[in-house]
Amino acid sequence: MINSNYKVISGWNEIRKKSTKLIQPKNLAELKKTISNLNQNQIKFSLISGGCSYGEVFTSPNGITIDLNFLNKIIKLDMKNNFIEVESAVNFLKLNNYLLKKGFYIKSLPGTLSATIGGCINGNTHGKDSYLNGPFANNLISAKILNLNGKISKYKNNKKNNYSLNNPIGSLGLKNIIISAKIKIFKLKNSNLIINKKKFFSYEELIQTFQNNKKKTDMMGAWIDHFDIHGRGVIHLGKFSNIKNKNEYKQLKIKKNYEKILRIFIYPILRLLLNKIIIKFINKFYFFVHKKDKITEQSFFETFYPLIDFIPNDKLIYKNGKVCIQIILSTRDIVKNLKRINNLCRKYDFQSWWCGMKMHKKYKGNFAFAENGFDITIQFPFSYSKKKNFNAFLSKIYDFTQKKGGKVYLVQDNFLSNKIFKKMYPEYKKFKKEKNKVDKYNLLENYLYKRLIK
Ligand SMILES: Cc1cc2nc3c(=O)[nH]c(=O)nc-3n(C[C@H](O)[C@H](O)[C@H](O)COP(=O)(O)OP(=O)(O)OC[C@H]3O[C@@H](n4cnc5c(N)ncnc54)[C@H](O)[C@@H]3O)c2cc1C
Repeated sequence: MINSNYKVISGWNEIRKKSTKLIQPKNLAELKKTISNLNQNQIKFSLISGGCSYGEVFTSPNGITIDLNFLNKIIKLDMKNNFIEVESAVNFLKLNNYLLKKGFYIKSLPGTLSATIGGCINGNTHGKDSYLNGPFANNLISAKILNLNGKISKYKNNKKNNYSLNNPIGSLGLKNIIISAKIKIFKLKNSNLIINKKKFFSYEELIQTFQNNKKKTDMMGAWIDHFDIHGRGVIHLGKFSNIKNKNEYKQLKIKKNYEKILRIFIYPILRLLLNKIIIKFINKFYFFVHKKDKITEQSFFETFYPLIDFIPNDKLIYKNGKVCIQIILSTRDIVKNLKRINNLCRKYDFQSWWCGMKMHKKYKGNFAFAENGFDITIQFPFSYSKKKNFNAFLSKIYDFTQKKGGKVYLVQDNFLSNKIFKKMYPEYKKFKKEKNKVDKYNLLENYLYKRLIK
């Protein structure tokens, strides 16, 4: 018997919860058998691995999901040819610990250690180096794919194959199952980075700083105080240290006891206290305690996962879920457009509680978010969606983004309308045709597919 149990599942935003039969195959034979059963009976299902997507890409409207977490082995490290071959549910905690110890790393990492290789290929995620290295797709050399007909094929990642039927990049869990992947790795002299933490006082200054440093850095990420009309905040400009590391690399362990203390004693109080006035004050305070310019040496984990010790799980803060809208706008008129977004948020009183910003470079491919431009994330508690003007706010933000040629990041989204989606991602027609060829009964299905693509 193949293991299964019933569980309430939702995206990381915890907005749409669904009681789901979670099927947990233990090996490839069980996975193939599961697929064959679902296929024969034409039962719709979704796929989950790390479960870190904020939106609706792994939740199944039919309440049936296959958990791919048995695919968790590192298969081969080739330090001569600079690649690693791993099963698709290997996550970045395991992978970073394994690779950094040997003096290597992977580019374009998302901000969570629980995300997996399979999830990041399907979501085509990006990191704080997106302006340099593009999204996760650029790491992929090839992948072993299980198709719904039970056959295994190989996908070779090159421009020629961009629209090949078994291309899993950006396919949002809707075409096939990645069993394993060969991923590029890069040599490091030192896993520490020299970080320049710079305060800025306006959107103009922020954009100028990003532009001036794109050739001098290995990563950049900014935090903006969204309650401030001018767009003040702090930007981190990082470069890997060139000094050969003499110290043994220390493994990162998520401190479970620490998390337990936070969960039992701190978060319940935080949840009671946190409201917009306090958050506004925290944003202000965070800005004022920062020195104008500070240069420090930081570890890889402190740089790419800065809040891991304090907020190992942001679900615990936003008790009833959160709204998370991540949008990208092109470089043209960016300052003007950021101010317009800020004004819209102020007008409707939905400023972002914690607003991050990254710079990107364009990637062409299915549902690609990355453009030559900048993204920001607007996030606040889902309980605010009860406010009368919430829907009007959403439609203004989405409309504005689309009219300026921008996009909404699909793996994070819960609210985009079908009409605007089709204008933002016109490739959906081509994708549907491809999907119909590899999944003619549309068995692979998630809430995002139902809302936007179908
Ligand atoms: C704290 C936090 C920070 C984040 N920071 C970033 C960031 O900086 N940048 C960014 O881009 N994203 C970020 N994300 C989002 C996250 O990285 C992406 O949603 C990523 O796709 C999640 O990977 P996962 O392994 O958890 O996949 P899941 O969420 O489980 O699944 C994602 C999609 O991939 C499909 N899928 C998963 N595995 C397979 C497989 N083996 N074969 C076929 N389909 C599969 C699923 O069906 C689903 O459609 C963040 C998320 C969190 C919680």
